[in-house]
Amino acid sequence: MRIASGSIGYPRIGADREWKRTLESYWSGKLPAEEFEERLKSIRLGHLRKQRDKGITVVPVGDFSYYDQVLDTAAMFGLVPERFAYSGGAVPLDVYYAMARGNADAAACEMTKWFNTNYHYIVPELSGREPELTVNRPLEAYREAKAELGLEGRPVLLGLLTFLKLSKGYDPEQLDEWIERLLPLYVKILTELEQEGVRWIQIDEPILCTSLSVQDLGRIYHIYSVLSQSVFGLKLLLQTYFESVDAYKAVIALPVHGIGLDLVHDRGDNWAALAEQGFPADKLLAAGVIDGRSIWRTDLAALKEKVDRLSSLVSPGSLLLQPSCSLLHVPVTVERETKLEPVLKEALAFADEKLDELVLLCKVVNGESSADVLLPSRQALERLAASPALNRKQVQEASASLAASASEPARHAPFSERRKLQQERFRLPLLPTTTIGSFPQTAEIRQARTKWRKGVWSPEHYEAFIREQIETWIGLQEEIGLDVLVHGEFERTDMVEYFGEKLAGFAFTANGWVQSYGSRCVKPPVIYGDVDYEGPMTVTETVYAQSLTNHPVKGMLTGPVTILNWSFVRQDLPQEQVAYQIALALRQEVEALEAAGIGMIQVDEPAIREGLPLKKTLADDYLAWAVRAFRIATSTVRDDTQIHTHMCYCEYHDMIDSIGKLDADVISIENSRSHGEIVDCFKEHTYDKGIGLGVYDIHSPRVPSIREMEEQVKQALAVLDPSLFWINPDCGLKTRGREETVASLRNMVQATRQARETLTLHA
Ligand code: GLN
Ligand code: ZN
Repeated sequence: MRIASGSIGYPRIGADREWKRTLESYWSGKLPAEEFEERLKSIRLGHLRKQRDKGITVVPVGDFSYYDQVLDTAAMFGLVPERFAYSGGAVPLDVYYAMARGNADAAACEMTKWFNTNYHYIVPELSGREPELTVNRPLEAYREAKAELGLEGRPVLLGLLTFLKLSKGYDPEQLDEWIERLLPLYVKILTELEQEGVRWIQIDEPILCTSLSVQDLGRIYHIYSVLSQSVFGLKLLLQTYFESVDAYKAVIALPVHGIGLDLVHDRGDNWAALAEQGFPADKLLAAGVIDGRSIWRTDLAALKEKVDRLSSLVSPGSLLLQPSCSLLHVPVTVERETKLEPVLKEALAFADEKLDELVLLCKVVNGESSADVLLPSRQALERLAASPALNRKQVQEASASLAASASEPARHAPFSERRKLQQERFRLPLLPTTTIGSFPQTAEIRQARTKWRKGVWSPEHYEAFIREQIETWIGLQEEIGLDVLVHGEFERTDMVEYFGEKLAGFAFTANGWVQSYGSRCVKPPVIYGDVDYEGPMTVTETVYAQSLTNHPVKGMLTGPVTILNWSFVRQDLPQEQVAYQIALALRQEVEALEAAGIGMIQVDEPAIREGLPLKKTLADDYLAWAVRAFRIATSTVRDDTQIHTHMCYCEYHDMIDSIGKLDADVISIENSRSHGEIVDCFKEHTYDKGIGLGVYDIHSPRVPSIREMEEQVKQALAVLDPSLFWINPDCGLKTRGREETVASLRNMVQATRQARETLTLHA
């Protein structure tokens, strides 16, 4: 029996980001609605045609979106929050986009990370509205593909439990009520598909890869019993990804016709369960064997052997080979990469190349092609592995020995002593004021960088321009009355790219874009080699800024875990060791800054939470090495050198211990957007080092009033020690305008002065 190839989802942005441009020109009013729909349709069909023409047997339909697949699901059920003035029926495009982006009358829905990826989805708000099936999206997608391309697609639907677990606006105790409310609509979707003659549907339940309770497993069983009993001819493929399934036995016993398992990001657990516990003879195994999240080619010869073993575990004809997850998380094609070193480029596979790998693999396992065709992928990987960039012995030995070490890198003195020495050195007032690092990246600054990159400006010209910016902003900060200053990060486009470009072991693609949220795409650096320090990266700008003022200027670095989590990373080394390599390089920069007289150094770790594994049992291990990486970078400094760190977003309650273990002298955290949630979290956990909870949201151009900020400070001081408390905005100010930034910071300083007075009065 033939083994077929399947795709679970395809990047929607397009090889030239045409999807992004289409959305943005529609939003700006340049593209009329009709033409907008036409263009999206042609992009959508183009992607289907491409997958089919490559020889993929099972092509998914309905994975395409106008913004985000979770938002699509909420809109399909008419789950539109009240503030958007929607009165039922098909959700109009302007309401759909208002939910995603907000409008003059209503704030956008919240956006958050899709499992452990860097993709962000729109969080559905359930609240009062009764759900209805406003449109059968999977059916529409199926019909379109059939009518336009004669393609028998496999419709994709976000599973009910995953959808509800990702939603907010209801009490967890009402979960079962919501299941009962939505289940009939899922039944309706399936029955209509069945009537249409659809043979298979893919239902995505990645929630099965997180830590689930017994009750949740009961819920999954209930949902899929009802669904499978409501159809006869339509078969259900329950698709999981991003980890191994938490309860293998229970999952494979679910009343569905096929199970999709991630056999790449499963730490071997799905493989082991398959081998030890077998797989039901009456089910299809959709085996996720090609890594849907990395950018690397697969060693197809090695994979072929695994696939042979898989075939022996399932009934003949019941194996489907797929990527481990939707290809949404990788760039479209390597073809456009013209500037990469050949040895690196040949080892890469983006979405299109991954589909080619699948087709090739299927041909070989089906005896249609000789196994020789599998060798070039292995050879390409071997050539890369042999290249000097991946064999910096010293770095490898250092990172390996740090991974093997039983002791944690530590500052010389404990915080209690460091604190005194630092206070003597810096003599800061109570409630010191500072900012997070960046100041407005104006059009003028971006243009200057372009001119320099294109060679229109000489490096000297550009550097002089950057110095001018620093000078202006040091002056402004002094005038505003801030206590601890920053140079402003004018020389940086991006906090990871900037360092990647100055460290060995990194490469940058020309077109390796992936969707981050909505039309926003990111182009992550590629960490392909051993990471090494090649010389000072931030010393010139920082020292220049410090030369202009008597206030302390904080050096500003991006932390090892954030650099790791926001890059595509090599896979021949454990992530932990790559983090240590970056940390060792950053340590040299920290030491260089210190040697140049910089007394405060901030090492940002906004993405530390993003690497947190989906399973709670794996979190401790990750947090342990993440903390160690930070400490490698920061613990060799003198006791009177003050180490700062910064993190964004809320939800720190489950990692507050790890934050303490970073042993940073001062941490600044986003706070105002999460409406004091973080303050609540400090009611339960004491924090005994310097801490600044952001007193204003930097995501809005609005200038916050003195009163508002005083209120924020008051709330924080109810749970935190005033002698350890700092005053700062939520995050960097690079996306803000100059006027509003200055006005907001003036108010912040004024609010601080008032808060200080209140404190001394009560003292
Ligand atoms: N220092 C960085 C800035 O101010 C921090 C950015 C971040 O937290 N994402 O822009
Ligand atoms: Zn931040």
